[in-house]
Amino acid sequence: MANLGIPQNTIAVLQKYNFVFQKKFGQNFLIDSHVLEKIVDAAQITDEDCVLEIGPGIGTMTQYLAESAREVVAVEIDRALIPILQDTLSAYDNVTVLNEDIMKVDVGRIVRERNQGRPIKVVANLPYYITTPIVMSLLENHVPVQSITIMVQKEVADRMQVGPGTKDYGALSLAVQYYALPEVVAHVPANCFMPRPNVDSTVIRLTRYQKPPVEAQDEKHLFALIRASFNQRRKTLANGLANGLRISREQVAAALEEMGLSATVRGEALTLEQFADLSNLLKKDSSVF
Ligand code: SAM
Repeated sequence: MANLGIPQNTIAVLQKYNFVFQKKFGQNFLIDSHVLEKIVDAAQITDEDCVLEIGPGIGTMTQYLAESAREVVAVEIDRALIPILQDTLSAYDNVTVLNEDIMKVDVGRIVRERNQGRPIKVVANLPYYITTPIVMSLLENHVPVQSITIMVQKEVADRMQVGPGTKDYGALSLAVQYYALPEVVAHVPANCFMPRPNVDSTVIRLTRYQKPPVEAQDEKHLFALIRASFNQRRKTLANGLANGLRISREQVAAALEEMGLSATVRGEALTLEQFADLSNLLKKDSSVF
């Protein structure tokens, strides 16, 4: 099968199958071989790797992945793409296509069945409407994943890698940076896709830490605290947490003071380490949520 990273070949496949793009599935197919090579290089795939691809589309990136990996499992929600994938991937015996919604797939099971429980690599040109839930579910559920190399909306990539004091900093930044090292791989203009999206895109690699960079005694507590802090973004932390959690303003103020911070500080000013310290301090008082 011809290389689908060349636009004419993608057009030929789409015409052969009378394919109709589904906006609701975020279908923007890559048609730039340089970008495809960059993504696959950044994912550092070897012939020992089992790769999970989310949303293979017509199989463009899947072909590149299948050339480098031992095995590829590709999960595609759109039934209309399945016969196309059978065609475009017919030359590869190391690819399994599952016609499922990734949000309903037990990725842990794929890891156990296909990779004896050893961490897999996730690579995807993600449907933008579910980027955050997919990434959060892979990270929070402790699915054995070595790295996640993904194309996302530029703004989302910004949010994943910024630190305190910027408007993009929030719960997603902290969650990603607690579990993984984020690194931007490439900025991708809209003309590298068919059809062209209305947003700019960025490829980002999240390399999962063996051990988080900060010590939180209770991860759930830490993330409840982070979520509450950013839900009430414009309030001071003491007020926001008192409103959002069953906790008194004085308890928060005392913990902040112990950390050498002002009681009027806002959540967006705290580093991940400071959030972990605050969580540990509030946890010390077991009556606190
Ligand atoms: N990987 C292809 C490429 O790079 O050309 C297609 C990328 S396109 C941005 C996103 C793909 O994800 C589409 O094929 C779409 O049908 C699929 N998709 C959307 N929602 C999905 C879901 N919940 N589960 C699995 N696949 C999904």
